[in-house]
Amino acid sequence: MKSVKFGLQARFLAAMAIMLLVVIALLGTLLHRQKVMQQEVADLGREAMHGMVEDSLRRHGEATVDQLGDALANPLYYFDLDTIGSIVRSAQKEPDVSYVLVYDNQGRIIHDGTADIAVYGQTMTDPLAYEAVNARSMHTQWSAQIVDVSEPIMIGSERIGGVRVGYSVASVRAYEEKAITAARARLNELGARHLGWIALLLAALVAACVAIMVYAQRTLVRPIRQLARAAHDIEVGNYNGERMASERQDEVGELVRAFGTMSDSIARHDRDVRRMAYTDSLTGLTNRLAFRESLDHRLMMLRGAGRQLALLFADIDDFKRVNDTLGHEAGDEVLQQFAHRIRDAVELMGGDDALLARFGGDEFVILIQDGDVRGGATRLAEKLVAELGRPIVVQERQVFLGTSIGITLFPEDASGATALMKNGDIAMYQAKVAGKNCYRFYSRAMDQAVERRVRMEQELRGAWERGELSLMYQPVFRMADSRIVGAEALLRWQHPELGMVAPSVFIDVAEQSGLIESIGPRVLRAACAAAARWGSERDAMDPLFVSVNVSPRQLRSGDLPDVVAECLRDTGLAASRLHLELTETAVISDEAHASALLATLHRTGVKVWLDDFGTGFSGLSHLRRVPVDGVKIDRSFIADMLRDPDDLALTSAIIAMAHSLGITVVAEGVEKEGQFNLLRERGCDLAQGYWLGYPVTAAEFAQLVA
Ligand code: C2E
Ligand code: MG
Ligand code: MG
Repeated sequence: MKSVKFGLQARFLAAMAIMLLVVIALLGTLLHRQKVMQQEVADLGREAMHGMVEDSLRRHGEATVDQLGDALANPLYYFDLDTIGSIVRSAQKEPDVSYVLVYDNQGRIIHDGTADIAVYGQTMTDPLAYEAVNARSMHTQWSAQIVDVSEPIMIGSERIGGVRVGYSVASVRAYEEKAITAARARLNELGARHLGWIALLLAALVAACVAIMVYAQRTLVRPIRQLARAAHDIEVGNYNGERMASERQDEVGELVRAFGTMSDSIARHDRDVRRMAYTDSLTGLTNRLAFRESLDHRLMMLRGAGRQLALLFADIDDFKRVNDTLGHEAGDEVLQQFAHRIRDAVELMGGDDALLARFGGDEFVILIQDGDVRGGATRLAEKLVAELGRPIVVQERQVFLGTSIGITLFPEDASGATALMKNGDIAMYQAKVAGKNCYRFYSRAMDQAVERRVRMEQELRGAWERGELSLMYQPVFRMADSRIVGAEALLRWQHPELGMVAPSVFIDVAEQSGLIESIGPRVLRAACAAAARWGSERDAMDPLFVSVNVSPRQLRSGDLPDVVAECLRDTGLAASRLHLELTETAVISDEAHASALLATLHRTGVKVWLDDFGTGFSGLSHLRRVPVDGVKIDRSFIADMLRDPDDLALTSAIIAMAHSLGITVVAEGVEKEGQFNLLRERGCDLAQGYWLGYPVTAAEFAQLVA
């Protein structure tokens, strides 16, 4: 999953953080305002207190002085110093009183409360004295330390003196200070309490934010992340993750449920598609795709465990023939029956972990990995060869098929799936080359052989068009008079790099690849055309024939009679002058089909010879059942005839037998005069070989005849 850079969670966090910052800023301002206000309140308090204290001090002073004035009027009038003294002293006892002075009209001190009145008669010189003495009524003055209250003392309307009382401001100031301090302490206490509340509020706010975060995380972020993960799982094809479900009755719950249903249906679809994509519809077996995936997976597991594995590639031999001759429905039926047999065999011998797949066409692949895989593979291959070699009944007809199996082992032959499958294919191909209906283990030597073959096949394609293929003609002699009676057309391939390539090498490739089906008819046409020209060189009584080799594959395709008839018509060659050479094995392997075909060919007048007679020896009795006009004794018998009495006996027997059936006998590969003489002695009809004449070009052959 792509990592989410600035996800929901982060956004929520950021929003919360911004909100908190704003709240903290607001609270900060609030706190600051509170501080300022506290200061203002304190200042105001101080001012008020100050005024109040001064006022009360003044009033108290004035009241006291007023009383004193009244009390002193008579004593002063009678100049009773004792009474004045006692009044002054009692006034001095009052709190905060610094001094009490009684003075006369000129401002001279009469009494200061002391016993000896040391200052008696002195004029008051302190800074406040002047205003006090001159005041006509109650007068109050302030200095830094003293509040001075004075009043003239009157008798009637006559002023006889005055009294001054000085109050000390210090204690009042101290009191004032104390009161202000108390008020400030109270204010601070209030502020602290306020701060506590604010802190509490802040904490509550943070807690609320955290709670909202957690809630958002639980209700939004988590389910959305889960959904994202699940979607990612689906994206990479993992449908086995936990099923998305929710009990919630809100939009998110709905979304989660809808997603769950959707992923279920995707998984179901995926399963269906996989099933369809991974099974072979005809046989119900695993198909190539699924097999390949499973193989990859198993190889990965085995690699670590150091275990072995064997792959068997089974290809039905000549399956194409069924399709060509009986139709595709029959082909499908054959595949189903074969699949059945293979499955039974694999179940019986493949072990628990065996895996069988159809690779399309007529190819089946089996994987086994239990115990001794080489031994197991061998036994299974033997069983398959035996089982699939049994005749099969399709559309009420018995069909003989077989199977070629290639086996490759992991890790001996290859460590990768691709290489293993290639090896299996190569080994299977080698089993085909080795004669089909057998099995072969892969070996490294096979690689080169196959590579060469594959290259040759590519090069052989189009070789005719490029003019690299040509025909040589080897003269065939009549033994009785040693006259040339005809020639065998032999194909040559002038390869641009390899030079002349022998048919023994490339005919096989052409046969395996099916190329012979296009080359064959061209050879036939060219040979007929050449032979048609020879007609002019010889008298009409004894016309030259041309014999053309026909591959078993051409025989099987069924249209050989048509091709032959067409060639004869187009070239104007008389049918009796064309001989077709079929191999003994090709004819015998499907006797019924061959017999019918040969009968058709006979009716057109073409002659049919059995080539390489004796090599696929299956009894002379076949000659009775297959309508042929001649046999060509294989050159291996002729070569050994002079040395090996058995070969001589066999050759003699073939000649005798053929003659008894009215069949012509041709000896191939006559290289020595002795062979020629011996064959003539035994009554052999025709002969060809290097002693008599090498294969030559058409022009050279025409000269030879002339
Ligand atoms: P084949 O039909 O048995 O042809 C005879 C082969 O024996 C020819 O080899 C020929 O050159 C060779 N030969 C003739 N006389 C002697 C002799 O005295 N000594 C020895 N050792 N060999 C001799 P070639 O041309 O290499 O052909 C090999 C095989 O290739 C042929 O065997 C035939 O089966 C196949 N072939 C050749 N041309 C064609 C063709 O046009 N179509 C098909 N289907 N097969 C062909
Ligand atoms: Mg031949
Ligand atoms: Mg031959």
